[in-house]
Amino acid sequence: MSQETAAPEADSKKKLTFFGEVNQMFDKAAAYTSHPEGLLLQIKACNSVYRMEYPLQREDGSIDVIQAYRAEHSQHKLPTKGGIRYESHVNEDEVMALSALMTYKCAVVDVPFGGAKGGIKIDHRDYSETELERITRRYTFELTRKNFIGPGIDVPAPDYGTGPREMAWILDTYNSVGNDTLNALACVTGKPVGQGGVRGRTEATGLGVFYGIREACRFADDMEELGLSEGVEGKSVVVQGLGNVGYFAAKFLEEGGAKIVGLAEIEGAIHNPDGLNLEDVVNHRKSTGSILHYPGATNIENSAEALELPCDILVPAALGGVITGENAPRIKAKIIAEGANGPVTSEADSLLLDRNALIIPDVYLNAGGVTVSYFEWLRNLSHVRHGRMSKRFEERNAERILRAVEKLSGNSFKEDRFDKVLSEIAFGASEEDLVNSGLEETMAYAYREIRELRHKHDVDLRTAAFISAINKVATSYKQMGIFP
Ligand code: GLU
Repeated sequence: MSQETAAPEADSKKKLTFFGEVNQMFDKAAAYTSHPEGLLLQIKACNSVYRMEYPLQREDGSIDVIQAYRAEHSQHKLPTKGGIRYESHVNEDEVMALSALMTYKCAVVDVPFGGAKGGIKIDHRDYSETELERITRRYTFELTRKNFIGPGIDVPAPDYGTGPREMAWILDTYNSVGNDTLNALACVTGKPVGQGGVRGRTEATGLGVFYGIREACRFADDMEELGLSEGVEGKSVVVQGLGNVGYFAAKFLEEGGAKIVGLAEIEGAIHNPDGLNLEDVVNHRKSTGSILHYPGATNIENSAEALELPCDILVPAALGGVITGENAPRIKAKIIAEGANGPVTSEADSLLLDRNALIIPDVYLNAGGVTVSYFEWLRNLSHVRHGRMSKRFEERNAERILRAVEKLSGNSFKEDRFDKVLSEIAFGASEEDLVNSGLEETMAYAYREIRELRHKHDVDLRTAAFISAINKVATSYKQMGIFP
């Protein structure tokens, strides 16, 4: 056999990179569409990557060379959008893969952005706050210099290891080096509320995960196929990761009547089939420094084993690649709800689907974060808090309706009764009400859209979500007149 013919076979056996895995999912879905090959290739391509290295003087006087990236996967809609993660395994392939997932995620939930992602290869726990501030500010400066940030260009947000604090540093640096005065607030989302952030952004991804799971559990026939009853109530849940996504997903699932039977963090995991109290566990971890030894629960020293606990719903909400071909056969959950980005490898995906598990894919399920980022960006560009113009008006309207009912009924309501009813119905929507209702509608609508495609093509939900994304991005390109 010649070298030329042997090579592709060897390649096909090579372990795929994360970006390779995302592209494999893309190809699987693209087979159900009829777009020209060239268009599909362009949609898949990661358009631009900025790789940078810069020095950081540590507090002890030593110098670290910081490696960082920003990938902009697709500019079919602008700005491009996606978080920045601080994590010690960050690499170019990973940010490219995650930026591609952002393109598809935005398309699935109809958020009019292209996809991007940034990463800094550090363990944020190894650096002081001042050092983190310097790392973040220099990163922002680099992005500004190369035109990789701006309200209409590319808008970062929090991701693993970053939060409102880092976003405030980004905004401040952008403001001091850029000359975009009017719209500068919209250069980054996930900011603190006092710095142009929107109420509800912090919990948005976790709340979106909850809305997505609740929507999936609403379909009695889908649940029946899994041997489960309709609704979230009473379902047993294991959550991996008590960061922003995992904590809020667990909180809303608990409030929705689900039973949290397992929680996993870096130091280990705990299990109690009778249920754990989330807030108590979080307080226990705060006071002891570990999730382990929570009263009444069994310790699981190897945190990854928590993924294998018996439960109805498993929510991996930490990092990618945690469910692999190796542990997938031992996973017992009937529903795998991907709170994290890329927690299930493609090999694990096939194994889980073979045993008829329902995988609610990241590309849909964790889109709550970027959806509310979109609301924050809109708020920043409009320079007005959502609901500010209408809140009082809505309140007065409700009062007018109540007075009209009183008049039409011919009875005058007792004032205290009137006040009681009024207080129940007459309130105008606050910013948080509007944000959460926009998020709920987005998650519910998108779920129905991908569920329909799942049935139409007899495919899994991930493939359906990719079909939906590919069609929407393809339509954008076609409308631009770039492809026939
Ligand atoms: N980092 C989040 C994600 O992966 C949010 C991105 C954003 O808000 O732009 O979806």
